[in-house]
Amino acid sequence: MISVEEALERILAQITPLPVTSVPLPQALGLVLAEDVITQEDIPPFANSAMDGFALLSKDSQPRDGQPPRLRITGEVAAGYVADHAVEEGTTMRIMTGAPVPPGADTVIQVELTRSENPEWVEIQQAVPPGNNIRPAGEDMRRGQKILSRGSEIGPWEIGVLATLGWATVPVIQRPRVAILSTGDEVIDVSEPLSPGKIRNSNGYLLEAAAQRAGAEPHRLGIARDTIESLREKFSEAVTHDLIITSGGVSVGDFDLVKDIMREQGEINFWRINMRPGKPVAFGQIGGVPLLGLPGNPVSAAVTFELFARPVIRKMMGHTRLLRPQVEVVVEDGVSDVAMRRHYVRARVEWHDGRFIAHTTGNQGSHITTSLLNANALVIVPEGGVEVHPGDTAKAIMLDWPEV
Ligand code: AMP
Ligand code: MG
Repeated sequence: MISVEEALERILAQITPLPVTSVPLPQALGLVLAEDVITQEDIPPFANSAMDGFALLSKDSQPRDGQPPRLRITGEVAAGYVADHAVEEGTTMRIMTGAPVPPGADTVIQVELTRSENPEWVEIQQAVPPGNNIRPAGEDMRRGQKILSRGSEIGPWEIGVLATLGWATVPVIQRPRVAILSTGDEVIDVSEPLSPGKIRNSNGYLLEAAAQRAGAEPHRLGIARDTIESLREKFSEAVTHDLIITSGGVSVGDFDLVKDIMREQGEINFWRINMRPGKPVAFGQIGGVPLLGLPGNPVSAAVTFELFARPVIRKMMGHTRLLRPQVEVVVEDGVSDVAMRRHYVRARVEWHDGRFIAHTTGNQGSHITTSLLNANALVIVPEGGVEVHPGDTAKAIMLDWPEV
């Protein structure tokens, strides 16, 4: 039985980022950029006004004989248009925010600092220096400048910058296509009526959703029976994916046949981890496709997905930050049952009076799916029979914080 750290290290050693593809800009959200973005243009592309006001020559804004100067208005420039004539000494043009500064003008005064009683004349009530309210071309991005680096994650703000630069399609690392396979003669689909001895396939749906949230493109392949033939058939479809995630059938029972298929068609790297929930986790490959065999118990499947499958998916997507952050928490209610294995206790962690306080979510049995509800963290109780008394501190993995 290996430690959680060794398991993760062995798994990630086998995973490499997927090839590059090109996607329409809106689909790049959450993906990893595969090329540096170097701007071929100045942004803004032209000097423009930061205010609604008047474009003029700075020297024309100086008071004359102690009186505010009056300038003749020769026209108007709206955003999206260019002036059809220049601003000359003693004249001005109305200008709107974002409109190109007309030739001749070297400054803009905001409308609030002017007074205009008719459309032909405006009084300039304050002297303004050259460049006032003008956003020069290239102030934001300079032609030839590297704006985004290969390997960065594309969020909404990066999408905005890519749109600014005209990247209608974006080179990114592919999303992994993940096969999700449930196993077990007792397992039936969610739409089928329950009959004696049967349970519904909660894992298939849970893992599909978790894989999608991790950034993968999940493909739920349904349920394999506990026979070699049924597993062979399902695995022949699963191997066309980038990653295979199974649930159930990796323990030591007579019908736990997933490891047998791995031996037959690929190899097993390990199949037990010193943790709970989720001791029976198998890792290896089939037909060169990495396979994570998660336990059948739903809580174990959920927790081991977070600890092992999510980092795998992220590494395949080209992310370098793979693991959720850990914080120190005060475990308000303690953890009474003592296990020799490392225990990941589902908990709700909240910031209270300057500390993170963890409340565990009740019965921690690996079949108690309601212990997942409302949990946003896994409190780590170290291996070796460590006890956590009420008020003790412990580390917790924050499941709703982004990776660090
Ligand atoms: P196994 O690892 O196959 O021995 O399964 C362990 C436990 O998880 C058993 O109680 C199974 O009935 C249950 N289980 C297995 N697969 C699923 C599934 N897809 N959805 C819900 N429970 C499952
Ligand atoms: Mg089973």
